[in-house]
Amino acid sequence: PTNHADETIRAAYQRASAWLANGSKTLFIDGKWVPALSGKDSQTIDPATENTLASVAEADASDVDLAVAAARKAFEYGTWRGLSPHQRSRLLLKIADLIEEYGDELAVLETLDVGAPLAFAQRHVAHSAETFRYYAGWSSKIYGTTNPTSDDRFIYMLREPMGVCALINAWNVPLVMAATKIAPALACGNTVVLKPAEQTPLSTLRLAELIEMAGIPTGVLNVVTGLGATVGAALSAHPDIDKIAFTGSTAVGRHILQSSAGNMKKVTLELGGKSPNIIFPDADVQRAIETAVLAFCRNSGQICSSGTRLFVHESLYDEVSEKVAGIAATYKVGSPFDPETKLGPLISATQMARVLSYVDKGKAEGAGLKQGGKRVGETGFFVEPTVFEHVNNEMTIAREEIFGPVLSVIPFRDEDDAVFKGNDTIYGLAAAVWTRDASRAHRVARALKAGRIWINTYAEGDQVMSMGGYKQSGYGREMGAESIDAYTQTKSVFMKL
Ligand code: NAD
Repeated sequence: PTNHADETIRAAYQRASAWLANGSKTLFIDGKWVPALSGKDSQTIDPATENTLASVAEADASDVDLAVAAARKAFEYGTWRGLSPHQRSRLLLKIADLIEEYGDELAVLETLDVGAPLAFAQRHVAHSAETFRYYAGWSSKIYGTTNPTSDDRFIYMLREPMGVCALINAWNVPLVMAATKIAPALACGNTVVLKPAEQTPLSTLRLAELIEMAGIPTGVLNVVTGLGATVGAALSAHPDIDKIAFTGSTAVGRHILQSSAGNMKKVTLELGGKSPNIIFPDADVQRAIETAVLAFCRNSGQICSSGTRLFVHESLYDEVSEKVAGIAATYKVGSPFDPETKLGPLISATQMARVLSYVDKGKAEGAGLKQGGKRVGETGFFVEPTVFEHVNNEMTIAREEIFGPVLSVIPFRDEDDAVFKGNDTIYGLAAAVWTRDASRAHRVARALKAGRIWINTYAEGDQVMSMGGYKQSGYGREMGAESIDAYTQTKSVFMKL
C-alpha cells in the first residue's frame, strides 16, 4: 500500500498506520476506552504478510459484566430509547456520513485485517453507510397497531425495544456485519454490547470511535474484544442480556442457542451455508459461467452465501466445467492492495490448513481436481481458486462448508433433479438459478429451500432484502423490515371503556 498508484489510498494507509501505531486498542465501555481488567492483550495479524497489525485488549467475563451493566443503565435510564425517533435518526445519519468521510481509512483497515481485496472492502464501506441511512429512516416508522374489536374496549399493541442486545460477529466481513446489527438495534431504541471476532476487530473498533464522535450517549454502544470461548460465552449466558444477534458457524450458533436458554434470551442466528448455483441450458451461459467463478471466489470463498455447489445441466456439463476452471485459473491471487488481485489470503494458517485438508478429501473421495488446490507462496495464507469436477452430492466437499475458494461442479438431469440436489443439504442460506424461462425461474426460486434466492445473478443485495437461513443456516432474519421485528417486541394493551 505504500506505493499504491492511487494517492488517496496511500494517504488513507498513512492515517490507518498512524491509528494502528497509536497504542493498544482498548475496550469501549460506558463511554470510555479502557484496557481489559486483566491487562491482557492479544495480537491481530495481517493474513497477507503475517505481520502483527495491533495489540488488542483481550477481555474476559469481568469486562463483559461492566459492559452489560453500562448498557443496562443506559437502557433503563432512557438515555437512548427516551430520545425522539427523529433524534435517533439524526445520529444514525451522522454515523453514515462519518463512515463515508473516513471511508478510505476504514477500507484500508479492513483490507489489512481481513485480507480482502481493497475494492471489495470499499464496496463494503459504502454498503455499511447505506445500512445506517436505511435504518435511520426506520426509527420514526416503527408503529404499533390498534384493533378495537368492540365498543367497550380500546385495544392497542405497542412495539418496544428488546433492551440490552449482545451482538456477536464472525471475522469475514466485519464492518458490514457490525452495521447490519448496530444500525437496526439502535434505530429501535436498544442499547448494545458488541463483540467483533478476535481475528478481525479493527474496523469495528474504528467504527465505534466514529459512533462516539457522532455523539452517541454514554453506555448505549459498548465494544468488548476477546475470544469466543470467554467473551462470547459470557455474553450468551449473561442473565442481564435480553437479546443475542449472532453471525458465525452453525456449531457455535447451536451452542449460543443452548446457553441463551438460561434467561430465555431472544435469539437471531446467521449461520453457515453450502449454496447451490444452478445453470439451465436456456440461460445466458457465458454470464452464468463468469458469475459462477465470482460466486465462489469472493473474499477467497470466505462468505456465508458463497456459491460453492455449481449444478450444471448434463448437456453443458463438460463445457461449463472447462470454462469455469479456465476463468478461475486467470484469477490473480496476491496482495489485496493490488488492483488486479481477485483473491487475497485466507484469514489464518488454521483456515488455510482446513481448506487444503478439504482439497485432499475431495481427491481421496474421487472428485476430479480440475484447477488449483494448492497454497500460493510461503508467506501469507494464500490458496489457489480450486475447481473440482465429477463431484456428486454425497462427497464431503459437496456437503460441508469449506469457507475457502473451492467449487464443486455437479451435473443434473432435469429441473426436479436440480431442485432435489440443490435442497439436499443441511444448509439453506442462499441459492441461484440461471435460466431465460421466467416461469422456470420463479418455479425453481419457490422450490429452493433457502433464505435468499438470485435469478440470473449472484450475491447482489439491497438493504431492503431480508437475510437468513432455512434449516441449519439460521434462526430468524436480519436486514430489511425483519430486523425491526428482530430488535423489538410487542406489548398489547386492553382498556375497558
Ligand atoms: P465462529 O462461529 O467460529 O465465530 C463467530 C463469533 O462467535 C466470533 O466472534 C467468535 O469469537 C464467537 N464465538 C466462538 N465461540 C463462541 C462461544 N462458545 N460462545 C459465544 N461466542 C463464540 O465463526 P467464524 O469462523 O468467525 O465465521 C465463519 C462462519 O460464519 C461460517 O460458518 C460462515 O458461514 C458464518 N457466517 C454467516 C453469515 C450469515 O449471514 N449467515 C455471515 C458471515 C459468516
